[in-house]
Amino acid sequence: MNIYKNPYNPEKIKEAHKLLAEFKYDAKPLIKGYSNQTLYINVSENKIKAKPVDQEMKDKFTGGRGFNMKLLWDAVTGDTKWNSPENEIVIAAGPMGGITQYPGTGKSIVCGISPLTGAPVDSNVGGYFGPYLKFSGWDAIELQGIADKDVIVYINGDEGVIQILEAPEEDVNSHLIAEQMCDIFAVNEMDMKSIATVSAGKGAEHSFFGCLNFSFYDRRRQVARLKQAGRGGLGTLFRHKKIKAVVCKFRYLHANSNEVDNLEKIKEVGAKYHRELYKEDDKQCDMRHVGTAHLVEIMDDYDLLPTHNYKFGADPKTPKIASHVWREMFTQGVPDGCWYGCTMQCAKCVDGYILQTGPYKGDTVSIDGPEYETAAAFGANMGIFDPHFIVEANFYCDTYGIDTISFGTGMAFVMECYENGIINKEITGGYDLSFGNGEEAIHMLHQMAKGEGFGKTVGLGIRRMKKLFVEKYGADAGFLQDIGMECKGMEYSEYMTKESLAMQGGYGLALKGAQHDEAWLIFMDMVNNQIPTFEDKAEALHYFPMFRTWFGLQGLCKLPWNDVEPANNAETDEPAKVPAHVQNYVDIFNSITGRNIDKEELILQSERVYNFQRVFNLRMGFGTREHDMIPYRSAGPVTIEEYESRIERYDDQLKDKWNYDIEGKSSEEKRDFLRKMREADYQKLCDAVYERRGWDNNGVPTIEKMKQLKMDLPGILEVLKKYYN
Ligand code: SF4
Repeated sequence: MNIYKNPYNPEKIKEAHKLLAEFKYDAKPLIKGYSNQTLYINVSENKIKAKPVDQEMKDKFTGGRGFNMKLLWDAVTGDTKWNSPENEIVIAAGPMGGITQYPGTGKSIVCGISPLTGAPVDSNVGGYFGPYLKFSGWDAIELQGIADKDVIVYINGDEGVIQILEAPEEDVNSHLIAEQMCDIFAVNEMDMKSIATVSAGKGAEHSFFGCLNFSFYDRRRQVARLKQAGRGGLGTLFRHKKIKAVVCKFRYLHANSNEVDNLEKIKEVGAKYHRELYKEDDKQCDMRHVGTAHLVEIMDDYDLLPTHNYKFGADPKTPKIASHVWREMFTQGVPDGCWYGCTMQCAKCVDGYILQTGPYKGDTVSIDGPEYETAAAFGANMGIFDPHFIVEANFYCDTYGIDTISFGTGMAFVMECYENGIINKEITGGYDLSFGNGEEAIHMLHQMAKGEGFGKTVGLGIRRMKKLFVEKYGADAGFLQDIGMECKGMEYSEYMTKESLAMQGGYGLALKGAQHDEAWLIFMDMVNNQIPTFEDKAEALHYFPMFRTWFGLQGLCKLPWNDVEPANNAETDEPAKVPAHVQNYVDIFNSITGRNIDKEELILQSERVYNFQRVFNLRMGFGTREHDMIPYRSAGPVTIEEYESRIERYDDQLKDKWNYDIEGKSSEEKRDFLRKMREADYQKLCDAVYERRGWDNNGVPTIEKMKQLKMDLPGILEVLKKYYN
């Protein structure tokens, strides 16, 4: 239970609500995983309506991210900017979303035109909202328009009522508003688990990488916990619309809320998986005790942990933020799934933490996480190997609605700029932003939430900061391009890719920007050497992004796919794909929908949406080869310091791979030659991937490809006309 110095008054908050619009509907049971309608809300016009979902929409877009992208496409034009009123936040589960017999089925997918990148973005998040929305009768919700004053949207799925309410008194910061929504809309403490809230915080108002928090009420801890749709600034968009919260109340969850075709088969597949997980997890990733934070020491061991803005891949201080630390700090032995039925239970929590800084200093709170990305970004990448700093900054990022990855990677960039004299104390407002200085760095977070000082500058994101530092402070544009770890405007998540060409493509070729949720190929490529040729890498950069897109179509969490594997997985033909788990997904999809797809059709479902999204990028002015280019630090050593930190490896590669005579050559000459070779390799990789995906040499999907996928829709052909006469 959180304890506050200044408690709020729920009655006062409720009394200030003013009804702006109301819509009543007949909440019918689902039909085989679908409600067959979507909900449209316009907060400029206070308009609420239902839209039907037809068979063609299901056939072409499947659900989840597919539905979101289709609805978003219909809502915007090629001229729409992120802050245009017609831009939308679209949220959906998917046909598999919400089943409770298999782990990891509670995910919501959120899409919109990104404030950070200007292109369509998708972000995947836990919490109860997506399933509750669907069980309330809606396959997706569109939020369009910009309200005059702060509003909340309330969906009462039990009674079939939707309201837009003027909401002046609620807090904006998420740990408070998520609790306030429980206090206001639940009839008692027991009922709070039926409330799911989407919110963003004050930081989302003043940065371009605001995240959305999706809540679920944890009865044991008596707190509304928060999971994040982190990437792409969707929280910024949410607050720009002056939405404080979207709340869904749904009370009647039961074992077959999806009204599936074959519940017995789902139970059978689920029971087999649960047994496997209980047996194998402790021996494999130990997700149930440390969540994804187990990766910290593994990444460090393989020289893959981004350290000091991705200059290095390991640090002797890493044990201070490794999994044994989190194992101690996380409360153990309590249920920690972010949706019902998730026995992986990786949503770990630090309880009873007394905040040391900021507006809530002295309050006692429960903090979700940190997950690996946050521990790596704040710990190694910013060089602050202090778990208390990580936890404190994690709390404030979440409640302020700030993406921890963009903040951590952005701060690492700022720190390197500071250490290179590109910015100084005069510019930062007196703060020493050297690597490792946690006491000063936390101020950037609080400033960001207030929209003040240099913290607001950090909130611009790396791409906008690069421009500012060049234009205002005379920085070398080439150097900033090399060290600013963003692609398509999105900050890199926390993996070193210098020694894995395939993973460079995993980031650079991802549709929305530098996020690893399309392909994580470092071990296949660098450690196990399973994909040595360009063609092998291209095949992996076709299959895995398509396979992982499917999680977004269905409302699934990726982690149960391969963070625990069957004991005999290594003996299978394609262990990286975890074939037994792919078959589980095929079986469950068929058992829900009554269809009869196989694993090839699974990939086809994704390919349709993936190619649609690539064309959507083109429509918005992105999506060609130039947008798939990566900062050089992602591919190799920018500085002499970096080269010499791995000199043996690089010297060997120059000799063995490129027959380069290193005798008498300076580190500078060797670094420059290596750069030429690695940059050429990246271009060759793009060639191979484009070909494998059925795109032209500029990365544009061909008309033949769209026809083959039966996605040669008029709007798509209109966009492609510009590229193919
Ligand atoms: S594996 Fe973790 S993140 Fe995924 S659904 Fe389960 S608890 Fe949530």
